[in-house]
Amino acid sequence: MSFLRLLARNRLALAGLVVMAAVVVLALITPLLPLADPDVTNTADRFERPFGAAGLLGTDHLGRDLLSRLLHGTRLSLAVGFAAALIAATIGAAIGIVAGYYGGRIDNVIMRGVDMLMAFPYILLALAIVAALGPGLMNALIAVAAVNIPFFARNIRGVTVSIANREFVDAARLSGMGDARIILTEVLPNVIPVIVIAMSTTVGWMILETAGLSFLGLGSQPPQADLGSMLGEARSALISNPHTSIVPGAMILVIVMAINLLGDGVRDALDPRLKSGALSRPMPTTLVRRETPPPAPAADDAVLEIAGLKTEFHVRDRVYRAVGGVDLSLKPGECLGIIGESGSGKSVTALSVMGLVASPPGVITGGRVQFDGQDLIGAPYEVLRRMRGDRVAYIFQDPLSTLHPLYTVGAQLVEAVRAHHPTPRAEARAHAIELLRAVRIPNAESRIDSYPHELSGGMRQRVGIAMALANDPEVIIADEPTTALDVTVQAQILSLLDDLRRERGLAIVFITHDFGVVAQLCDRVAVMYAGRIVEAGPAAAILTAPAHPYTARLMACVPELGGGRRHLAAIPGLPPAVDRLPAGCAFAERCDKAQAACRQGDIPLVAHGPGRSVRCIAPEPAPEPAPDTVTEAAE
Ligand code: ADP
Ligand code: MG
Repeated sequence: MSFLRLLARNRLALAGLVVMAAVVVLALITPLLPLADPDVTNTADRFERPFGAAGLLGTDHLGRDLLSRLLHGTRLSLAVGFAAALIAATIGAAIGIVAGYYGGRIDNVIMRGVDMLMAFPYILLALAIVAALGPGLMNALIAVAAVNIPFFARNIRGVTVSIANREFVDAARLSGMGDARIILTEVLPNVIPVIVIAMSTTVGWMILETAGLSFLGLGSQPPQADLGSMLGEARSALISNPHTSIVPGAMILVIVMAINLLGDGVRDALDPRLKSGALSRPMPTTLVRRETPPPAPAADDAVLEIAGLKTEFHVRDRVYRAVGGVDLSLKPGECLGIIGESGSGKSVTALSVMGLVASPPGVITGGRVQFDGQDLIGAPYEVLRRMRGDRVAYIFQDPLSTLHPLYTVGAQLVEAVRAHHPTPRAEARAHAIELLRAVRIPNAESRIDSYPHELSGGMRQRVGIAMALANDPEVIIADEPTTALDVTVQAQILSLLDDLRRERGLAIVFITHDFGVVAQLCDRVAVMYAGRIVEAGPAAAILTAPAHPYTARLMACVPELGGGRRHLAAIPGLPPAVDRLPAGCAFAERCDKAQAACRQGDIPLVAHGPGRSVRCIAPEPAPEPAPDTVTEAAE
């Protein structure tokens, strides 16, 4: 099971587990061991030293065998601690789930009650409960359980509130399930890991608290031994006969340490975010480990040139070649489309430009990104930081997840400006209003104080664009900015981007999976498949006569309005997994023109008509090639 494997990877937790298992086994088999009776006094042999004639650990002030008392005491303390934890967790979780699930007045009444309990200092409350019930181990257990109930109730209520409003609970309700069933089948399974985590991290305390009450004489009553009462009885002989205190004290230390180490390990192993490594903080720039020196920069007028870019994900012993040698160049004021199926490496290409691919697991293993006369791959973080959002800006697919929910859009625009250009707030705010106007948001003066959730999807994407424009960048990389929007809003956003490009001379890299968008906006287009460019060239030429079978098949999947009913030819099969790329053409598996030669060796990207290139050994012939490019294509 992966839980045990994860736990075993945590050395300290494993040590805790081993120690705890040993202690628990010892406690379980204590009655079977050949030990002296723990409660039989023998005052003639009092305060015998350990390792002497009277037993391994010596005797206490009444001459009772310390080893026997220690094991019996441990048994009792563990039992009481675990029982208290179990009771507190069960009652606390039940209270928390009911409060969180029903909400409203029920929640209010219950949680105010819990708050009242929490208002008392912990140990004082336990003392008061024991004082009311009378001393005794059972009452100590009740007191310890009672003071821990609020902790569980609060935690579990919080988790339940977030679960009770989720869609799958609504779906269960719509399917006619009753509250009790929803709580048991939908809510509880989601809450149990939290309960287990809370328990594993609190059992240690509860054992300590029980021991504390016993130490004060409110828990186990003489002659019964538990770890706390043993300590309490040994207190008067602390200086003269320290071994009587050290023995139970060391045991408490060992147990609580082991439980806490184990509890931390359990928490980490149960947290799904830790499992996927999400909490391992990504580095500020993508890791670069180039195996070959970067290619020389091409001497042309491109603002941004990507050459031979290779980005991989190294996940344990697997290597995912998400981008396998991509060449692109972007001229000032040009719009370059990158098109391809989902998973073809478009986003990873775009993020690699500014070193934004998360590392680990991302690694750039080759290539060059030439911008502003320098190679950005492997550039120092400070250089990239200054360019990000200032000279190269991104627009992402879902602005709801990229905008901060608790700040107004104005505050976020101001922040975007001031991150790069320290301007007075008032000035930055005026600039932000201007930006909102530039992206055609009506009533920019009042809209600037809206929160992201108060705007529609199209508005939010306009804010995303405004933010990208904030510092007048030279290049905007738009990663499927219209995919989440409906067609009318998409059309507005596209024409907005087109206008902005013409007004401001922006160069745009536009990532999409929609040929309609490419046709409307892009000058040139690059088609990606399995991390490589399979065809590139002027958008109009490729759209009228695709050369690569993949491009042709992709276009055949696009329904045509007014074209009458026609069979949409979905491409059979799936793109190859990027950790097991086949030799030769990655598309061969799904291509109806594939030949034996397609599956051998590397297939290069070759020139194919004016300004076009294609990665195929049998492309569709280029239409009416101009005479001077024939020789180029034949190379
Ligand atoms: P898209 O073209 O849809 O934008 P991406 O660039 O996001 O595709 O992803 C390209 C490939 O990289 C996909 O096959 C994806 O599975 C892989 N990939 C992306 N992120 C990771 C990651 N963190 N670990 C492993 N593989 C990843
Ligand atoms: Mg993507």
